[in-house]
Amino acid sequence: METRIQIFDTTLRDGEQAAGCSMSIPEKLQMARMLDELGVDVMEAGFPIASDGDFESVRKIALQTEHAAVAGLARAKHLDIERAARAVEGAKRPRIHTFIATSPIHREHKLRMSKEQILEEAVKAVSLAKSFVDDVEFSAEDGSRTELDFLCAVSRAVALAGAKTINIPDTVGYTMPQEFERIIAAVVKSLEGTGSIVAVHCHNDLGLATANSLAGIAAGARQVECTLNGIGERAGNAALEEVVMALKTRRDIWPFTTGIHTPLLYPTSQALSAIIDFEPQPNKAVVGRNAFAHESGIHQDGILKERTTYEIMDPADVGVPESRLVLGKHSGRHAIQKRLEHLGHPLERTALEAVYHRFSTLADDRKKGVSDEEIVAIALDVRGDLATV
Ligand code: MN
Repeated sequence: METRIQIFDTTLRDGEQAAGCSMSIPEKLQMARMLDELGVDVMEAGFPIASDGDFESVRKIALQTEHAAVAGLARAKHLDIERAARAVEGAKRPRIHTFIATSPIHREHKLRMSKEQILEEAVKAVSLAKSFVDDVEFSAEDGSRTELDFLCAVSRAVALAGAKTINIPDTVGYTMPQEFERIIAAVVKSLEGTGSIVAVHCHNDLGLATANSLAGIAAGARQVECTLNGIGERAGNAALEEVVMALKTRRDIWPFTTGIHTPLLYPTSQALSAIIDFEPQPNKAVVGRNAFAHESGIHQDGILKERTTYEIMDPADVGVPESRLVLGKHSGRHAIQKRLEHLGHPLERTALEAVYHRFSTLADDRKKGVSDEEIVAIALDVRGDLATV
């Protein structure tokens, strides 16, 4: 039997708080609508105590959202939790997400609190949140750098206080898949009999956010926290599109599903890029401009003969209209002929050689490939040449 992994999207909170990712309230409402259509299970809409604008956007997102649970973030503090509760109260499925750091580094340098105090504050926060909503999530900030026995003790205590989701963040992107798998397995075990589930929230400082999230799932986590395009603090969060497509592409080894309508991934990613200051790197997995682009002659020839020779995902399945063959210095005759056919300029066999020669000369010192207009120009020119011979 397949198990549903909950997709918790934090594009509008962890994502939005990152450099270059600020959004206005109307922009957040627009993104929230698209995320709801995309099929996320939970949408973290913001951090209501942070500012009046944050409060307002969470409140409005809560009111407009049809399907997803809407979460408001709150430190383990009375005022934060009250503010979050008021912001999400109009939601069909309101959630309060409260957190406190548990690691020695954060305990000593940031909070100046003992383990006992942290445990007490965590339980108090969850009990208070529980007085407002049924759906409470607790996060042990910097969980991956926390003593494992303490992490398990806090997790069990907040679960018994009513937290239904216990999130273990790799706040600073420090953990490794093997290590994180052990951590999550221990936390899952500590929650036996409580009915609460474990979530993972991974950052990408070492490029491991997706791998660590999958390791968490392998160990029994049932909610993944992620963002579109992997935006988020510093190097970003686990990318939603990567986690979802990894599970979907390798259904042969993962007995899991998600509620994500994958053909909306690319359009939603594009919408986010249009709102914030930057788009994903061109070679970004799944949604980058080149994610389905093939340039080498051997690859292009393979793709044209049979797509699956070099594509593990169908571009249409993530909403990319068609795979892009970038015509550049590595391209072969087959790809050029096909492109000209697509562009409405089919070539005769005799003309192909001349076009290919001109094309190669032009492409040779280019980094970015040759545009469709240029290829068509060459074809027309060569035809003219041949006609006059
Ligand atoms: Mn984070």
